Amino acid sequence: MPAQQVVDVLLPLALPGPYSYLVPKGLDVAPGDYVRVPLGPRDTIGVVWSVGRPPRPEGEGPKLRPVREKYDAPRLKEVQRRFIEWVASYNLVPPGLVLRMCLRVPAALGDPRMRMGYRYTGAEPERMTPQRARVLDIAADGLVWRASELAEAAGVTSAVIKGLVDAGALVQEHFPADRPFQQPRIQPHIGLSREQAAAAQALRAAVAERTFSVTLLDGVTGSGKTEVYCEAIAAALAADRQVLVLLPEIALTAGFIRRLEERFGTPPAEWHSALKSTERERVWRGVADGSAKIILGARSALFLPFDRLGLIVVDEEHEAAFKQEEGVTYHARDMAVAYGSLGRFPVILSSATPSLESLVNVDRGRYRHATLSARHGAARLPTIDLIDMRTTPLERGRWMSEPLVAEVVKALNEGEQALLFLNRRGYAPLTLCRACGHRLQCPNCEAWLVEHRFRRQLICHHCGFAAPVPHVCPSCNAENTLVPCGPGIERLAEEVADRFPDARTAILSSDLLRGAGLRQVFRDIADRRYDIVIGTQLVAKGHHFPGLTLVGVIDADLVLGGADPRAAERTYQLLSQVAGRAGRESLPGRAFIQTYMPDHPLMCALASGDRASFLEQEKKQREQAGMPPYGRLAALIISGRDQLETERFARELSLHIPEAKGGRVFGPSPAPIALVRGRYRYRFLVQAERDFNIQGFIAAWLSGIQARGSLRIDIDIDPYSFL
Ligand code: ADP
Ligand code: ZN
Repeated sequence: MPAQQVVDVLLPLALPGPYSYLVPKGLDVAPGDYVRVPLGPRDTIGVVWSVGRPPRPEGEGPKLRPVREKYDAPRLKEVQRRFIEWVASYNLVPPGLVLRMCLRVPAALGDPRMRMGYRYTGAEPERMTPQRARVLDIAADGLVWRASELAEAAGVTSAVIKGLVDAGALVQEHFPADRPFQQPRIQPHIGLSREQAAAAQALRAAVAERTFSVTLLDGVTGSGKTEVYCEAIAAALAADRQVLVLLPEIALTAGFIRRLEERFGTPPAEWHSALKSTERERVWRGVADGSAKIILGARSALFLPFDRLGLIVVDEEHEAAFKQEEGVTYHARDMAVAYGSLGRFPVILSSATPSLESLVNVDRGRYRHATLSARHGAARLPTIDLIDMRTTPLERGRWMSEPLVAEVVKALNEGEQALLFLNRRGYAPLTLCRACGHRLQCPNCEAWLVEHRFRRQLICHHCGFAAPVPHVCPSCNAENTLVPCGPGIERLAEEVADRFPDARTAILSSDLLRGAGLRQVFRDIADRRYDIVIGTQLVAKGHHFPGLTLVGVIDADLVLGGADPRAAERTYQLLSQVAGRAGRESLPGRAFIQTYMPDHPLMCALASGDRASFLEQEKKQREQAGMPPYGRLAALIISGRDQLETERFARELSLHIPEAKGGRVFGPSPAPIALVRGRYRYRFLVQAERDFNIQGFIAAWLSGIQARGSLRIDIDIDPYSFL
């Protein structure tokens, strides 16, 4: 009897590696095949990782169980399997958990959903009426029509359709329920400016090389970066490759999708958290069989089963939102670059405010640089002025300074729009008792409760805890002594309504509006149905509002401070993006920033438009401190339900820190937010030289260590959050 084959199957679970199974006779499997295999009492879907190992001799090792079934889907390609392994080893997570992100749509592995329809057989019915003739005229296209659609197109009742079936002229047939993907139209853009054309040429050349490269497309807001990288997309499509465009989830707007649709004649396949499950299935299949050509997605789109991916564009590459913070932590931009290197295709990183990481990679000669220095057409970059809040007093309970109010009045008088930016949801970030000084705090987290006046609730922004606003102080029982402190956008809206009672005002934040409602407001702003827009970072990025000429930043100093080594860089990026909303067409734009730190280098750089000198200084500081991108960081977050036990475990861990040249460990120290969702948190920070094997170091440190009970160790390679 010929020996049965053994295959190693990677399962979507937190296991150290693939499991072995026997292949039943007659079943032909190869690496990348999706299979159903038994695991304990249940079956699970996995992917064949390797084949061909002979089984162990009888009686040695555990008895292997057989593969139950192979799915009829296109194989997961070699490059994706290598990518999964790479993501797992870089981020120190089990490969099965990375595979799980590829298997989010198990239904797509089954048979495609079918629908019932009717097709013309070519036979003439014995009795012909004008109605019947109209139906057959339409059905003569040979396609399978749904009864209702055919009846509607011909303007007849369903009885007419049924009559034609009885007469043998129409026959019932099944057809796939999924709408097929249309092929994009590929034609070059003819109206590019000279600078745009040069950048587009560089990107097309990178595609033509059919090998790995990274190009940083670095152009001011409104310079036409999207137009330019669409030329590279067209080139990749012409070479019969698929293209992935990654955007931060928040920037995946209807406006952006429409632009790609206009450019390529058909909408891109979308991939993000708001998709319906049938659409998910359709996209997953279309990506796997290669019929979906342009995929526009949030970070998780990296794990779709591409048939022949040939280009990744990461738009807004500087965005911290590309970092997945929960579950498998990974940075989608960095993973995209690794993917390009494994798959030998080009990657384009696009931004008006590139990350220091990417700029330093340009300095080092690892990335190419394509720049766009001017806005398209007549549009000019906005002027930015600082309002020194140390010398400009605010009225009590008010947050807009007189100079800013005057600017808003001016804009309104001109019939132009103003955007007031405050990156704080809710009414007030803190509620305090005037009598005893008690501050209302979340019971599960070490965080203040934020008052949300529209919802009449106090909400914790870390765990979602919500409670009604109390009438008496929970600490001293005094009545009517609780007062809101500081501004949120709801409070700013109150001030705006008071100051500008006739202005049409829109308030935008993620907790107030979502989905279709939000899209409608964005359209209405673009159509100038609002005069003043009050918003959080939801409005800061990517949007194009032609009538918006004034941007006012209410509190620019919010994001500075704290343990984040990128705080200044991120503030600079955010404020440049916000200011960049102004004056995107022929009307000139102005931005005013209220700040208590007008001498801070980043404020000076914003006001003078001197990005280069800010970056030089930032680079110098990071280099001296050994911070990224000159050094490497990783964080270990130790958490548990019991404070003492968690602290003890963290201390015990510190006894096992390995000796290594080029790396050192800080901590354990209580995390800045030391309690979240009832879990106490301690942090270690590993800081190392650039060529230090930080993954190997952490693996060695944690080998043989078990987190028991409620204790947990979360590893964050290249952390972006330091809370
Ligand atoms: P960015 O992505 O750099 O912010 P966009 O690509 O969104 O810039 O371009 C800004 C605006 O200018 C958009 O409305 C875009 O359609 C328009 N635009 C840019 N370049 C051109 C061009 N060559 N021809 C026509 N319109 C252009
Ligand atoms: Zn909480």
